[in-house]
Amino acid sequence: MKFTPDQFEKETDRLYDELQKAGWSREDCLLITPLTLEINALKKKQDAIILAHSYQTPDIMYGVADFIGDSYGLARKAMEMDCKKIIFCSVHFMGETAKLLNPAKEVLVPSVAGCSLAASITPEDVRKLRERHPDAGVVCYVNTTAAVKAESDASCTSANVVQIIDAMPQDEIIFIPDKLMGINMKKLTKKKIHLWEGTCIVHERFDEEAVKAIREQYPNAKILAHTECNSAIVDSVDMAGSTSQMVKYIAESSDKEFMLVTECGLTDRIKVEQPTKKIVGTCNLCPYMKEISLKNVLKALKNPSDDQKIEISEDIAEKAKKSLDRMFELEKSSSL
Ligand code: SF4
Repeated sequence: MKFTPDQFEKETDRLYDELQKAGWSREDCLLITPLTLEINALKKKQDAIILAHSYQTPDIMYGVADFIGDSYGLARKAMEMDCKKIIFCSVHFMGETAKLLNPAKEVLVPSVAGCSLAASITPEDVRKLRERHPDAGVVCYVNTTAAVKAESDASCTSANVVQIIDAMPQDEIIFIPDKLMGINMKKLTKKKIHLWEGTCIVHERFDEEAVKAIREQYPNAKILAHTECNSAIVDSVDMAGSTSQMVKYIAESSDKEFMLVTECGLTDRIKVEQPTKKIVGTCNLCPYMKEISLKNVLKALKNPSDDQKIEISEDIAEKAKKSLDRMFELEKSSSL
């Protein structure tokens, strides 16, 4: 594709306007301009939308994405969009969730990135857990494969986990696969909970002593943690919740300094979208999320490989969709 010098100039200005807030120079922006121009032109031509999880890098989020958010929120957003194709910049299971909710649209992921949490459990493991606890209902966190969702009674997000568990008809629940989130949630429900040993490698690495040190160094900073962190951290912070709840908390807060105990992409997102707020402390990178690049986004649009295309067998898709629909129903009925 050919672009005029004027188009290059305008696109570099547009990128620099946003990305400088995340520390990018104009030269950095100039280097990615040919890619963002081509991706955005192809996106229009192919009637595609690009979704970016909040753990993506700023060039993806502000260079080419139409929407930024968490996986379930983005998959639902895509349902409202009149488009033929979805490019989901995230890990593989998130692409599957988008496909389950948008079966008539073509869904592609730029990289076949895995996830330590989703990989921790198989459908066979879920069947064995059911045999061991025959009276329990199974609730799975959305960070699971479609095949695992298909074996579960209901799905849940980090924002509604307690609400869904409390709304389930059983008094005993098998919660999969995130052990740390399960330990945090257990304190908030009266139900008997059986946990699985899965963890997110990004959030399990945070250490409460490091968070304490930041608290001492920045006594005015509000500290926010994802509920996939260990309970010593979750119990000690000012707010614990999902990525979208953290974004909302900071936007509505009159405080000026924050530490985010989560993936670095969210820190970049706050820097760009809420530039008057100061982010202190450290974050951790998700190596799976960071497999996405502008180059593999372009490949997904231009010449996608089979493994970039999300395909789910009819049988699994039908059962997994039921687990997502059940979450929706339980959420609705328990808020009445
Ligand atoms: S941050 Fe990375 S490892 Fe953790 S749940 Fe998300 S994709 Fe998986």
